[in-house]
Amino acid sequence: MPTPPAPASVKPLSGPQKALRKLGLVRPIDLALHLPLRYEDETRLVQLRDVREGDLAQVEGTIRHTEIKLGGTRQLLVTLDDGTGTCLLRFFTFYPSLQKALAVGQQIRARGEIRGGFAGLTMMHPAFKPAGGELATALTPVYPTAAGLPQAYLRKAVQAGLARAELSDTVPSDNLNEIGLQPLWSLRESLLFLHYPAPDVTLATLQDHSHPAWQRLKAEELLAQQMSQLQAKRERAALVAPALMAPDSRSAPVDTEADWVPAQVAQLAPTQFDDHAAGASQPLHQRLLAALPFQLTAAQRRVCAEISHDLRRPVPMHRLLQGDVGSGKTVVAALAAAVCIEAGWQCALMAPTEILATQHFAKLVSWLHPLGITTAWLTGSQKARERREMLALITSGQAQLVVGTHAIIQDKVQFSKLALAIIDEQHRFGVAQRLALRGKLVEALEPHLLMMSATPIPRTLAMSYYADLDVSTIDELPPGRTPIVTKVIHEARRDEVIARIRVQVEQGRQIYWVCPLIEESEALDLTNATETHAQLSAALPGVMVGLLHSRMPVAEKKAVMSLFTAGQMGVLVSTTVIEVGVDVPNASLMVIEHAERFGLSQLHQLRGRVGRGAAASACVLLYSTGDAPRLGETARARLRAMAESNDGFEIARRDLEIRGPGEFMGARQSGAALLRFADVVEDAGLLAWARQLAPVMLEQHPALAEKHVQRWLGTKAQYLKA
Ligand code: ADP
Ligand code: MG
Repeated sequence: MPTPPAPASVKPLSGPQKALRKLGLVRPIDLALHLPLRYEDETRLVQLRDVREGDLAQVEGTIRHTEIKLGGTRQLLVTLDDGTGTCLLRFFTFYPSLQKALAVGQQIRARGEIRGGFAGLTMMHPAFKPAGGELATALTPVYPTAAGLPQAYLRKAVQAGLARAELSDTVPSDNLNEIGLQPLWSLRESLLFLHYPAPDVTLATLQDHSHPAWQRLKAEELLAQQMSQLQAKRERAALVAPALMAPDSRSAPVDTEADWVPAQVAQLAPTQFDDHAAGASQPLHQRLLAALPFQLTAAQRRVCAEISHDLRRPVPMHRLLQGDVGSGKTVVAALAAAVCIEAGWQCALMAPTEILATQHFAKLVSWLHPLGITTAWLTGSQKARERREMLALITSGQAQLVVGTHAIIQDKVQFSKLALAIIDEQHRFGVAQRLALRGKLVEALEPHLLMMSATPIPRTLAMSYYADLDVSTIDELPPGRTPIVTKVIHEARRDEVIARIRVQVEQGRQIYWVCPLIEESEALDLTNATETHAQLSAALPGVMVGLLHSRMPVAEKKAVMSLFTAGQMGVLVSTTVIEVGVDVPNASLMVIEHAERFGLSQLHQLRGRVGRGAAASACVLLYSTGDAPRLGETARARLRAMAESNDGFEIARRDLEIRGPGEFMGARQSGAALLRFADVVEDAGLLAWARQLAPVMLEQHPALAEKHVQRWLGTKAQYLKA
């Protein structure tokens, strides 16, 4: 089909425009609500004799001395003298033009944070320009930005947005009074103030968001979030999903824990133990339970009951199944699929990576194929012919279970009767992708949705972020696991670690060695996976050392992974591609290089790849401090948390403590309508207010409520429904 020519008036976006779009800054109101991270005071000059450590200061003076320090990290040292004192300016990256601008005798204006220390007053990488020139009349806002988008451009864009945005109040003033907010701080006043605060404001009240203008914005944001969740919940409750009941099980509910032990053990008389005919007449999930090589844990039985209870209702399920790595979520997914299939419908299981999808597929096929279930398989890398066959199976409804990567959500995939969509490692999918799977409606029936995640959401957060989500939790590991011992070791002792690996491999064990991502663009001096692979290969003669990274072709990745799974490969060096879901019980040692660069939940996920078999397992966190004498505070807190706890819930709690809720959620819910300004813990009072006001607004002021949600969430509003 010929594509129509693009209308002549549509100009391609410029680089900065694209960057704005990437930041979600499309409408004037988006720009107006893009608030400064902090401010710089360029309204005055200070004298060096008056500054204290920690001050953000702007000073003017003459350069008296420059020198390039070699040894250790190369740096340019510049001594600035303003007649009242001197300050040392340190630059770690520099080039000839910078050196020229900072030659002895030049007069400059430098701006940065004052540090004290050994060499007297110091500024690291200060901003500078020639001395003289006008001073600013207001504080200069510094906005959150994306790579390549200059502050100056952003400042102009925000200013224009602010001038054009419609900013009339949407919250009745009576309701604002309830939380002590004065009409003086209308939305417009608050925004103007936060973008351009008067130079005499107490910066602390802006930094800690306690200023009334900030309070107003946080209250508004929370209200928008609560209203849109409430709306989404109401909309969902009005939708219809297939009620999944096996034709012969209408009188036999499967939603108590007791229904999730194999029938032969629980219900049938001992004489019926080997009776195949009796077995065959059992519902599918019962036959699967009976065929499993293990019994479900009590926690697994409980969540199975919760899920099957939802599946029997004609309202779409919207449930998150959370459980620590290794807690056994896959079998719960398989049992949910069985409930769906025995009711005569199709189930889809989507995993974020091809490796993980492959593993799930193998496992589910080994469980379900003997029970007569037909499974299809869809990924981006499969051959056209295989793909056509699979698509035919899916469209005809012959495939009862479909496993795959996001290839499943492509338009071409037509399910004949999809009733249950399961998303593994849901936080790794974009929200749009999750929505797309839900959009595969059959006869206007909405599929049930089960999302699985190994990273638990603390309860307080779940309540405020996901008013609209039911949560099932597996809070118990299968029996027989040996706890993983975690050691935090300095990079200098790498050789000892390698010696330890040699011993382990000789004992028939397998080892993961994880490196930070290969990012050539990053100037950071990371030992990348390729180098480590070469080093380990040389140090471990006779041992098969494999390499896995995200830039390898899929076929190659699969080949490497299958050698490791089969036990032939002793050591697998990889970037974080093994992060999720891989299950190789014989692997008992995990080394994570540059552990200080990983996030806490990521470290915990990685560590979860070992400790899956009976052997004692260990995790070594190799860290490096680079040029600094010691690790930064948060990196240290993360590594300490890892050494002290093996429990995913405790780890999540610490993560929240270290990072704060905004970032905690931000890292895992990219694209979702997150709170940018409010903090559910700190602003609990405002949150409570927003929760009680949301239903009132929707009922009594529907037009204002709609305007408010649109203003705050705009196009993101639909994401809340995912
Ligand atoms: P995750 O929750 O991280 O996805 P998996 O589903 O991969 O965990 O399960 C981890 C391992 O534990 C798998 O090998 C699985 O077969 C096994 N497993 C699951 N449930 C049980 C159980 N109740 N008893 C024993 N082993 C189990
Ligand atoms: Mg898993």
